[in-house]
Amino acid sequence: MAALPVRITPRDQHPVSRKNISPNALKVMYRLESSGFKAFLVGGGIRDLLLGIQPKDFDIATDAHPEQVHKLFSNSRLIGRRFKLVHVLFGREVIEVATFRSGSENENAAQQQTSEGMLTRDNVYGTIEEDAMRRDFTANALYYSATDFNIYDYSNALADIEEKTLRLIGDPEERYREDPVRMLRAIRFSEKLNFQIERDAEQKIHELSHLMSLVATARLFEEVIKLFASGYGAAIFERIYENGLFSAMFPSVAHTLEKAESDCHVDFIRASLVNTDKRIAQEKPITPAFLYAALLWPEVLRLWQQKLDEGLSDFPALQQAGHIAIESQLPHVMIPKRFILMMREIWEMQIRLEKNSSRKAAQLITHPRFRAGYDFLLLREASKEIAPGLGAWWTRYQKENPPPPQPSRRKNGPRKRSNSSRPPKRS
Ligand code: ATP
Ligand code: MG
Repeated sequence: MAALPVRITPRDQHPVSRKNISPNALKVMYRLESSGFKAFLVGGGIRDLLLGIQPKDFDIATDAHPEQVHKLFSNSRLIGRRFKLVHVLFGREVIEVATFRSGSENENAAQQQTSEGMLTRDNVYGTIEEDAMRRDFTANALYYSATDFNIYDYSNALADIEEKTLRLIGDPEERYREDPVRMLRAIRFSEKLNFQIERDAEQKIHELSHLMSLVATARLFEEVIKLFASGYGAAIFERIYENGLFSAMFPSVAHTLEKAESDCHVDFIRASLVNTDKRIAQEKPITPAFLYAALLWPEVLRLWQQKLDEGLSDFPALQQAGHIAIESQLPHVMIPKRFILMMREIWEMQIRLEKNSSRKAAQLITHPRFRAGYDFLLLREASKEIAPGLGAWWTRYQKENPPPPQPSRRKNGPRKRSNSSRPPKRS
């Protein structure tokens, strides 16, 4: 698709103020500009500011090549295999700087894809117009200059934002085939921004959901977290369950849910996601291990029963069920080993929590996975997979046996790396 003639909106006709832009992002833009390059705030940063949402990160697009950007900032690093990017680091804040790239116009999309469905021509540098056209949605293709304060629009994005429409740039089917993750992004942005996906683009997801199987499994791990750690995970689940994206990524779980006689299993996933959304709203940490433990639980349960029927006793039956459920999931969505370990501990905790003698309880409550296992148990009860009672016992036990006070931490002391997840940035 060719870029439309640029529409320039001057400062007095749009609400984007430098006050709401990260000072570090401004610094990066000013340094690039004063070194003779062009630099714009692009993507979610400018989109969210226009919608009155505080952006979660700021992405910058420039005509400087990655090596040139890297040279300008001693606090930067070159990253990326699929395409090179520069991360400029300011403490915990990362400003991502990407060079204008051209898209796939006039090329046979299939020829550019690896067996994993990724574009391979992504590293071809281009003009700002070309850069706008290779982006996914019009709403994500606006450019703001911190030098002249104008917004540059090459795709009628401002009108789409005004109408709350999520519109793919170019032909939806072609763009989904180039990169099937755009289907997940469509659902995520639609929920986050409260936008309607343009009709054809929405329709095409039903037809093309099976393409998710072409996406690298490691990338899908991150994309699934972005979906369910967005704060809108419960709503997103309903949509991807209905349109086939869920079963494309979690085929065994989806099959088990379809065959299940009771709704309690799908209700359990729903309850876990509602719970996750609540935690995010309260700025509590979440871990991918809990999410994946919950998503795979219906399958673990089915296999657990199967192993019990084969004559195994409780614990080995559950262990084997967990192992098989994970093995059948890994070809679709890769789960890092450290999370697999935690998932298994959360599942095994379901048996340990049943043995609630006071002596054992005192020990169990100190287990690093106790809290997650207990939360998991409450959700199983809430979704009526098991009868209530045990959860309340543990709630009472914890009230009556509060943990001993922690030794006071040094202020500004070294921080331990936590397993809690900020959604990974790049798709
Ligand atoms: P948020 O950060 O709020 O999730 P975002 O739009 O900033 O949303 P990022 O993943 O940070 O999303 O990507 C930054 C920009 O890069 C996007 O706005 C879009 O213009 C472009 N982009 C990201 N992923 C893709 C993709 N798969 N295909 C095309 N363009 C993409
Ligand atoms: Mg972003």
